[in-house]
Amino acid sequence: MEPLSLLTPGAARSLAGVIFDLDDTVLDHGALTEAAYGALFRLREAGLALIACTGRPAGWGEVIQRQWPIDATIAENGAVALVREPAGLLGGAGLHGGPAPADGGGRVVLLGGLDREARRARRDELVALADDMVRRFPAAAIADDNDQRVTDVTLDIGEHRRVPPEDVQKMRAELRDQGVRTLVSSVHLHLTRDPSDKATGAVRLLSARFGEDPTRARHRYAFVGDSGNDGVAFAAFALTFGVANVRAHLGKLSVPPRFVAALPMGRGFAEIAHRIVELRKNAPAP
Ligand SMILES: [Mg+2]
Repeated sequence: MEPLSLLTPGAARSLAGVIFDLDDTVLDHGALTEAAYGALFRLREAGLALIACTGRPAGWGEVIQRQWPIDATIAENGAVALVREPAGLLGGAGLHGGPAPADGGGRVVLLGGLDREARRARRDELVALADDMVRRFPAAAIADDNDQRVTDVTLDIGEHRRVPPEDVQKMRAELRDQGVRTLVSSVHLHLTRDPSDKATGAVRLLSARFGEDPTRARHRYAFVGDSGNDGVAFAAFALTFGVANVRAHLGKLSVPPRFVAALPMGRGFAEIAHRIVELRKNAPAP
């Protein structure tokens, strides 16, 4: 990993957008700081598209897609995405009849492969498996955000609980034997039968909704993250950044981010954003 000082103006200027993880990347232990939130506005003012990419539920993704200055939200580790339909579908007006907000003003819609009934049936089976894991590994708990999920079921291993790494490994091995995919973040163990991950989910969204060629997209968008479920995106995208706390997860990442911030979590995200924005300002016109 290299320090941000080695990022070049050409690399910063070549970007069309930034994709970023939420927990322990933009958020500090779940909390949004002024520095991190302000950084989103600075990136946007620098002409960059912004896409949140999180293991958090579709229900949370809908809320931030409605409220934050971002273009799309990928939730549940790539399985679904939330985008705004063009404002024209609502007559170009805001929700209360005023002018459309700068970010569009259209209805937020969920993009995902399965219909509601198929998702529910698939989740019911995963809930039973998760309940069994919690019975046998009582340090873990069903995460408190499961009611807002539509594809996966999530165990709390590091948010309000501290689950020994060897227990996490045992759970993953047992679930793998039952044909269940697992993904690990700094706070959660996700159980899913969806084949998506953050990289495939991001490239699919960029191709379907942003008109990007899937291969070029990997060079036109940067990715910022901190832990295990970001590893696929660190491997897939050309320009990748870790906040300083990524160092604690390097053992679980086959490919580390290319650049690393000096500061952790939201302050590290703001540091990365500041560096990108300054280089885009100062770079000579191509
Ligand atoms: Mg994270």
